This record gives sequence, structure tokens and C-alpha cells, in this order.
Amino acid sequence: MTAVIRTVADLRATVAAWRRNGETIGLVPTMGALHDGHLSLAAHSRADNRRSIATLFVNPTQFGPKEDLAAYPRDEAADLAKLQSANVDALYAPSVAEMYPKGFATTVTVAGLTDHLCGPHRPGHFAGVATVVSKLLLQATPDRAYFGEKDFQQLQVIRRMAADLDIPVRIVGVPTVREADRLALSSRNRYLSAEDRAHAAALPRMLADIAGRLSREPGAVAREIAWGFHQLEDAGFRKVDYIEVCDVATLQPTRQVTAPSRVFAAAWLGRTRLIDNWQIGAA
Ligand code: AMP
Repeated sequence: MTAVIRTVADLRATVAAWRRNGETIGLVPTMGALHDGHLSLAAHSRADNRRSIATLFVNPTQFGPKEDLAAYPRDEAADLAKLQSANVDALYAPSVAEMYPKGFATTVTVAGLTDHLCGPHRPGHFAGVATVVSKLLLQATPDRAYFGEKDFQQLQVIRRMAADLDIPVRIVGVPTVREADRLALSSRNRYLSAEDRAHAAALPRMLADIAGRLSREPGAVAREIAWGFHQLEDAGFRKVDYIEVCDVATLQPTRQVTAPSRVFAAAWLGRTRLIDNWQIGAA
């Protein structure tokens, strides 16, 4: 049975009982609308830890004023059923008031890693993420916490935050789960019209093609980015926020692939913003 926990006090009591038995704990933070990407995180947690907790919290502070907070898909009953099937021990689903009581005034910001990619396009987003994930880690005190490489900038921001704040947790990155046409699974894919869904695979195809060519020709970054913009525009993407090649450690854009790097993109199909990234070479 997956226990449903709503309060910090109940979460701490559950975790304390497990700790008394010497059990290890894995945490899987999510915003719900669970799909096989989330369940892959849960499977990694189950494999590494005696106990696993999934969290479901649609965090208002990581959405911009014009973003899809109100429309974000919510179906806790379906999420709970999936976690049950995945043998996750607990679902922690606090209210907004539980997470941000009256008077709440603290924000965690991570500099540098948020300068590029989604940072400038979503002001305040990573501060919202870093703040809520700090809270979840301090509330649940897991041994390990699991995050998807699909949101690679988020993964690196969380790694930096946990290290800088001396939070004793191992942050584990999990490879992106994809559809047959390589579109990364995302809760937001359900917003896509049938026509847009058919065009969406141009995004991972473009990233994979660029990654393949740059592994053979590391100096061709500018040419490949220009090619990528054309590919997405030809496939019907309405707007491309960015295509960048970045060093995986610093997330600073590069024009020459010398260190381990990934190619990153964010682009709009209709009113849906898709993001994805692809590793260059085997590094
Ligand atoms: P979200 O509910 O979209 O905030 O995502 C919760 C966690 O699941 C984050 O760590 C995401 O990176 C991860 N995630 C989302 N989509 C995928 C995917 N397709 N494959 C692997 N992990 C994913």
C-alpha cells in the first residue's frame, strides 16, 4: 500500500520510523501527471533504497505569471494508482499552505548555472525549483534523490544547491525516457494537438543529428545551431527559445566542443513549450 502523507510532521514521523529500522530512503520529486519517465525515477529509487517516497507538488513559485500553473494537469488518484503499481512506499502531497505558510520569506538562488538556457527565458523559475527542492530534501532527509536528465539544467542546479548547502543527500540523474519516435515523455505533451504531436519528433531528431555531427566535427557548433533553427522552423515550431551547446559542468555555451557537452533546445509548438537535450559523444 502506498501511504498518502500531507504534512511535514507526518512525513518526518514516517521517515523516523524507517530510520529506526535502519532502512535507506529514496526521494522522487514530481509535479504529478505521472508517466513512464517519472516511473523510471521511481524504479531507480526502488532498486537503490529500501524505502521510496514520491512527492507530488505543483509548485506555484516555479511558474511565471504567464505560464500554465492553473492549467497544469492534475490527477492525484491516477498518480497514486501508478505509484501503487510501482511499489512506492509513500506519496507526499502537501498543500500550498503546508509548503508556504503565512510569512514564508526565503528563496534559494543558484548563480552561474542559471545564466543561460532556460534561465533567461523563465525568470524566477530556477529559484522556485531550488527553494522547493531544498525544502523537500530537508523535510524528507532521503539518502538519495532522483531527477531526470530531460531537465538537465534543473539536475545540475539541484546538484549545486545540495552541495553548497551541505544537504547530506546523493543526487542521482536518470536518463530520459522517450516515445518510439524519440520525443521525451513530458506531462506537457498532452497539450499537443494531433498535428503538433506528429511534428514534435523533429526536436529530438535535430538534437541527435547535431550531437552526432559535432562528435566528429567539434568546431562546427555555430553552423549546426543555425541548421537546427531551420529544422525546427520547417517542422512547424512557432518559436525557438534557444539551441545551445554547453559544457555539462558549467552550462556555459561553447563554440568548440572540447569538454563533455550536450546540445540543448527549447521551442514552442502551438502553445506548448518543449525542452530536450542530447549528449555529444560518449563523454
Ligand atoms: P516534473 O513532474 O515534470 O516536474 O518532473 C519530475 C521529475 O521527472 C524531474 O526530475 C524530471 O526531470 C523527471 N522527468 C520528466 N520527464 C522525464 C522523462 N521523459 N524521462 C526521465 N525523467 C523525466
